[in-house]
Amino acid sequence: MEKYKEILARQLPAGAVDAVFDLIIQNKVNLKISRKRRSKLGDFRPAITGRAQQITVNHDLNPFSFLITFLHELAHQRVWSTGKKRIKPHGEQWQNEFQNLLNPFLVPEIFPAEILNNLLKEGKKLFASSGADHGLSRILKSYDNNENKTLLEQLPDDAHFKLPDGRTFKRLQKRRKNYLCFCLTNGRKYIFNPLAEVIPAEEH
Ligand SMILES: [Zn+2]
Repeated sequence: MEKYKEILARQLPAGAVDAVFDLIIQNKVNLKISRKRRSKLGDFRPAITGRAQQITVNHDLNPFSFLITFLHELAHQRVWSTGKKRIKPHGEQWQNEFQNLLNPFLVPEIFPAEILNNLLKEGKKLFASSGADHGLSRILKSYDNNENKTLLEQLPDDAHFKLPDGRTFKRLQKRRKNYLCFCLTNGRKYIFNPLAEVIPAEEH
C-alpha cells in the first residue's frame, strides 16, 4: 500500500495522494500510468471478461493536469457504474459526477491560485468538451516541462524550496529513489520524486 502511494506521489500534488488512493479503492478501478500519448491524456475502460475496469493517465502530465485527468476519467467510471447507457459522454450526469469528485480537491493546499480560481469559477463546464482550448488548459500547460526548471535532485541537502502553491519545504534525506521533505508551512513530511519541479528558496 505504501509502495502504491509512493508511485502516486510521483504524479500528483502531495496533498492529493491519500484522497486519490481512497477513490481508487472505493471505486475498484485500476489506475495505470501510461506512456505519453498525443491523442489523449487519459481514458476509462469498463471491466471486460477477466479484466478489471481501468483508468489510464499519461505519465508525463504535470501533477495538476494528472489529478484533473484522473478525476475526469473517474467521472466516466461513475456514470458507467449507474448502468445507464445512451447518455452523452460529457453531459449533465458526467458534469455532476466530475464536480462532486473535484470539490474536495478545490483547496489552496492542492492547486496554485490561478488554477484554483479557474476551477472554482468554471468547474465542470471547463472539461465538458474534450480538447477545448480554454484559458485553464493554457495555464495548466505552463506547468508542463520547460527548459529553465529546477529539479529537486539538483538542490543540495537541506536546501529550502517552494512549490507553485506557495508552500515552503526543506529537502531531507533520500529514501530509496525519493526524497523525504519537510513542509515548513504545515509541519508535515512528504515524499517527493527527485524529478519534481521546485522553486529554490532562500534559507532564513
Ligand atoms: Zn471524457
